[in-house]
Amino acid sequence: MKVLYIYAHPEPKSFNGALKDVAMVTLANMGHDVRVSNLYAMRFKAVLDAQDFRIRARHDIFNPAMEQIHGMSTGSLAPDIQEEIEKIAWADLLIFQFPLWWSSMPAILKGWFDRVFVQGFVVDIAAGKVYQHGLLKGKRGMLVVTCGSPEEMYSPEGVHGDLHRHLSVIEHNILGFTGIEVLPPFIVFGAPALPPNRVPRVLKEYELVLSSLPV
Ligand SMILES: Cc1cc2nc3c(=O)[nH]c(=O)nc-3n(C[C@H](O)[C@H](O)[C@H](O)COP(=O)(O)OP(=O)(O)OC[C@H]3O[C@@H](n4cnc5c(N)ncnc54)[C@H](O)[C@@H]3O)c2cc1C
Repeated sequence: MKVLYIYAHPEPKSFNGALKDVAMVTLANMGHDVRVSNLYAMRFKAVLDAQDFRIRARHDIFNPAMEQIHGMSTGSLAPDIQEEIEKIAWADLLIFQFPLWWSSMPAILKGWFDRVFVQGFVVDIAAGKVYQHGLLKGKRGMLVVTCGSPEEMYSPEGVHGDLHRHLSVIEHNILGFTGIEVLPPFIVFGAPALPPNRVPRVLKEYELVLSSLPV
């Protein structure tokens, strides 16, 4: 299987870094082809702006959605966007790993979606090619998320509300919108307060989840 691993944590020596290291070894041992978008290491530009479009559809006004459609159809998107598009087109499975920041993804990953998930590549809204007809149909996606809060705070009765409701913006409204089939997420609650003896167990659980990915 071809796996694109999109990783958004700024510190390689973090717990997220340890999870990513487990993933690289496990996926390779399973015989998968793996490509990585390590967004902080790449210093990925997180802000969609007019610089993303080498040939503009219009010069009198900047309309991001219109420029994305035009940039995609003319192959004139910025090279870093083109590179990510090529990786997604290649992949069967997209794994997104990140720490939960403000109940969502870090800005660098949100910027990746803003800039890379362009209309004409992931969806064709005018033609109704969204959700089950989305242009990325046939691919699968999975979130790997670490949280600061303990599980009870993100339970349906917890003070934050059900974490799955927060993640559904990414799982349903972004990935699902493009036709990607979403696999169950791997979530680590209370990451900063993990007792040292629990860390190897969590890393092992992640290894087992990756080892049993449907091919
Ligand atoms: C801007 C911001 C917003 C946030 N918003 C939220 C929010 O809305 N909801 C929420 O729940 N949390 C939130 N958090 C907390 C955040 O989700 C956690 O800090 C994060 O998930 C912890 O992951 P980490 O990789 O940074 O952990 P680290 O701090 O690197 O590590 C966590 C623990 O894992 C162990 N560890 C660390 N490195 C390793 C290693 N290399 N190998 C093995 N074990 C290791 C240590 O025991 C460490 O204490 C927020 C944090 C920030 C900065």
